[in-house]
Amino acid sequence: MALEVVCVPAFADNYLWLVHDDASGETAVIDPGDPAPVLAAAADRGWTIGKVLNTHWHRDHTGGNLAVKEAGARILGPAVEADRIPGLDVAVAGGDTVRIGDHVGEVWDVPGHTLGHVAYIFRDAGIAFVGDTLFAMGCGRLFEGTPAQMFASLRRLAALPDDTLIYCAHEYTLANARFAAHAEPGNAAVAARLAAVEGARAAGKATVPTTIAQERATNPFLLAADLNQFAERRAAKDAFR
Ligand code: ZN
Ligand code: FE
Repeated sequence: MALEVVCVPAFADNYLWLVHDDASGETAVIDPGDPAPVLAAAADRGWTIGKVLNTHWHRDHTGGNLAVKEAGARILGPAVEADRIPGLDVAVAGGDTVRIGDHVGEVWDVPGHTLGHVAYIFRDAGIAFVGDTLFAMGCGRLFEGTPAQMFASLRRLAALPDDTLIYCAHEYTLANARFAAHAEPGNAAVAARLAAVEGARAAGKATVPTTIAQERATNPFLLAADLNQFAERRAAKDAFR
């Protein structure tokens, strides 16, 4: 049976993901930066959050850890960032697995945005929680890692099956799409997606999740031919207005 994923918007542009397994009744939350909307969304549905899965230490992803823990959850997060994950109970790293009911999530090390950043890949459900590593038409800023690390992390995610749903942590798609059109001027798929994203955002709709096939076709950081072009594009995006 599938995992149910609920989008909980927070702050200006964060998405916190509430994940529920109906068969077992287990609920987890990915990156509860703000506890109030997450606890309210769970309570509305009669769910109790048993696990927090953190992708990285940034406060907009971990700021609600302690409040959600107080409500009964265990905190799982990246071992490399253990000292900066509030309330950490279980440190995880690449090669480990996590569970939501009977659904098994692979932990992948995807350094670049931060050095310990992890992703949680639930292959049986066709779902990947990628935090601030891969965004719809974009990727995370390199706050701690090198271009080579991020490039390798993105290449690994890009090899997931076509229809894998990518749940990233921010609604950055419109700005990303504008940069993509600038970086890939002759790409019709990018131009078409920019128009679709403009329409969705004008209608107040979320553009996440995306699929890995769609990202392979239109994400300028996955379209980069090599590490040099990736690094150039990442630097250009930082300066793009
Ligand atoms: Zn971040
Ligand atoms: Fe973030």
